[in-house]
Amino acid sequence: MTSIMEVKLNLCCIVFILAAATVKAQVNPEMCRYPLGMTGGQIQDEDISASSQWSESTAARFGRLDFDTGDGDGAWCPDIMSEPGGFKEYLQVDLRSLHFITLVGTQGRHADGMGNEFAQRYRIKYSRDGSSWVGWHDRMGNQVIEGNKNTYDVVLKDLEPPIVARFVRFMPVTDPSLIVCMRVELYGCEWLDGLVSYSIPDGHQMIYRGLDVFFNDSVYDGATAQRLTKGLGQLTDGTWGLDDFLHSHVPGAWPGYDYVGWSNKTFPKGYIEVVFDFDHIHNFTSMKVHCSNMFSRGVRLFRQATCFFRSESEWEPDPMTYRPSAEPLSQSARFVTVPLGDRTASSIKCRFHFGDQWLLFSEVAFQSVFSTRSCTSSGDDPTHKVDDSNTRILIGCLVAIIAILLTIILIILWRQVWQKMLEKASRRWLDDELTARLAVQTQAFSFLHSSQSSEDGSGSGSISTYERIYPASADYQEPSRLIRKLPEFAECSGSSSRAGVGSDGAPHYAEADIISLQESSDSGSITAANMNLFAGSDSTLREFPREKLTFKEKLGEGQFGEVHLCEAEDMQDSLSEDTSMEGSSESPLLVAVKMLREDANKNARNDFLKEIRIMSRLRDPNIVRLLAVCVDTDPLCMITEYMENGDLNQFLRSLRLKTLTGGEADHSVKLLGMAVQIASGMKYLSSLNFVHRDLATRNCLVGKNNTIKIADFGMSRNLYRGDYFRIQGRAVLPIRWMSWESILLGKFTMASDVWAFGVTLWEILTLCKEQPYSQLSDEQVIENTGEFFRNQGKQVYLPKPQCCPDRIYGDLMLSCWRRNAKERPSFQEIHVQLTESR
Ligand code: ADP
Repeated sequence: MTSIMEVKLNLCCIVFILAAATVKAQVNPEMCRYPLGMTGGQIQDEDISASSQWSESTAARFGRLDFDTGDGDGAWCPDIMSEPGGFKEYLQVDLRSLHFITLVGTQGRHADGMGNEFAQRYRIKYSRDGSSWVGWHDRMGNQVIEGNKNTYDVVLKDLEPPIVARFVRFMPVTDPSLIVCMRVELYGCEWLDGLVSYSIPDGHQMIYRGLDVFFNDSVYDGATAQRLTKGLGQLTDGTWGLDDFLHSHVPGAWPGYDYVGWSNKTFPKGYIEVVFDFDHIHNFTSMKVHCSNMFSRGVRLFRQATCFFRSESEWEPDPMTYRPSAEPLSQSARFVTVPLGDRTASSIKCRFHFGDQWLLFSEVAFQSVFSTRSCTSSGDDPTHKVDDSNTRILIGCLVAIIAILLTIILIILWRQVWQKMLEKASRRWLDDELTARLAVQTQAFSFLHSSQSSEDGSGSGSISTYERIYPASADYQEPSRLIRKLPEFAECSGSSSRAGVGSDGAPHYAEADIISLQESSDSGSITAANMNLFAGSDSTLREFPREKLTFKEKLGEGQFGEVHLCEAEDMQDSLSEDTSMEGSSESPLLVAVKMLREDANKNARNDFLKEIRIMSRLRDPNIVRLLAVCVDTDPLCMITEYMENGDLNQFLRSLRLKTLTGGEADHSVKLLGMAVQIASGMKYLSSLNFVHRDLATRNCLVGKNNTIKIADFGMSRNLYRGDYFRIQGRAVLPIRWMSWESILLGKFTMASDVWAFGVTLWEILTLCKEQPYSQLSDEQVIENTGEFFRNQGKQVYLPKPQCCPDRIYGDLMLSCWRRNAKERPSFQEIHVQLTESR
């Protein structure tokens, strides 16, 4: 029976063998695409760091691809305020050893549907030693990588050329006013070659039949002067040149792209010298050099290679010399294997002698025995060889291990196939469920409306649980994933990001979150130090001494807490010219102070701070101005201009009670005047590509002389809870103001704000006397949304308000609710149209 000691010894030797087995270099970029451990957890938390973080719950360690909330907020998010001059934030991954990285993956912050931040573009920096950093660029020199378009899909990007690195940084490229969050993964394999740099003479240019052929090392990442030093490049990118060096694997590349080459004219000694530096001392068995052999064009394999070795400071005096045996007859490119005689070195210097006028290399790889790692007591000896007498046991062990591994792989594959089958089956069920539900509810709904029968109430009783459309633990985006499978999706998904949203057509997400009712009990803390950033980083936004605020009365209560009317002593003096308000030179100044309630949870606190950050950047006569903040101590406060007449919804309702002077035409002119102001504020937001996501009369405030300003960049009010629809108790949505694509696809764009504007205009013109689609239950509103999607003419529109001019209803309001988002007017157009119609 094998004793425990024997087993230990065998295992030890196996480890040694695995470590000391000849290291196969020559990576194959097509195979080398394994996830390196952000998702799988092999990369430890302490190896993930970042330049900054928005809060403790969005620290670097949460930036793992496909990890959702866990104990954090679902992604790494940098602090946008920390670098006002430009965005240099990064998420850094330390792989602990050199890796050949061929692919990167990114994702935004989804957080079970609560997140809406992602990086549309980013850059990559990498380092092999942690001190010198290189910015990655593709073969055409582009550094910026197209990233995510939503919060949940993983976007993979092939790194062409691949990189050899230990440290990698992901750097979002963004407008500093937008919050970005990222989750990432790296794909590749370990860089067993151990090569950290090679140094070569700069490549030459050939003129072949009038054609310029460039043999430079175009992706070299070290210093480039006459001699290239301290970098890696084309010789280690895993791509071998074609037989005909004028052609390349890379489409559109210049002639000679795949090769680095030299003409013998500039090397009087008849050879070029290449120095290779490695991470450790290795026992080198051989070196493979991929060369062109187009002798009809003066290019031939090298005639002789002489290699010197260095383990310490001096080159050893006895080089290895190798001459390729027979002259090959074929002109095809090939690998030439240069034996290195098991020599020990951490640097190798090889002289390659010209065999003809030109020498062209496209790849170099080393085969070695990694000599510094061993678990046996004799392992310190780098020339240690495995005892032959143990060979049988070792082979037996290896075979056993391989058999175990194969079994594990088979089990994993079997499980994956099984899971996929289950997933397919459940998705099919969900698709059927959604389609069936939309169809059934449509019938119920149209029946109810065509008959206008009120015998059995509103009809909500006839609609069973809408929630069943969503899978049990689904997030808000789930319907979009299902809808995407429907045939019309291809057309409608393209249409929902509208012209004018951004030059790239991608939707820009505002930080105006849909309200979250997530009652997270852990109160993660944003420290006072964090908050001080606000005061310092925006010159027009300052910390106001709270003792100078005198309470006058309570104005209302919102999602965050109470809003007070206060007198602010000396505020006028402390406001910069930019924020000072016309006609408010009196001191003390009347201001509205919105306070975060003391028992607010981490999410509410973050949202409150987010609203401050957003508002601090907005300057428009029709956007409520943030004047100052009190964030040095709790409770956090934002001080905004005081709007004497409260919110527009209540204002309009109260108008209804009073006797309105003038005729109907007069009313509509006044009301359209209000709509013009909202359109103007929205025009400003759209110029910043800022999506409000919750435009409604309840979120507009009325000041002196019926001035209307848009407010609420991120929250809604308890007062109007009935306007919001709750999905599985986790998120509430203003569905009656939302476009069909926002509800079904989770897409919020300027065009969906235009939709909400149409509803807001309708509210204004009905003096807010009823809720939009008041006769429909929430489920029926969503059902109606399904009809917009289906586009079979069964969708129901809000009716024309009594005092609404025909043109405004027909040409404007209905156009805001066009199915195709691209066909909806822009706020610019709306503003013009409304101004002209008054
Ligand atoms: P929420 O954030 O929940 O949408 P707010 O906290 O913004 O709501 O507002 C609550 C109430 O306080 C509003 O309904 C409005 O009547 C009043 N209010 C808020 N801001 C102002 C202001 N700047 N001027 C006058 N009243 C305001």
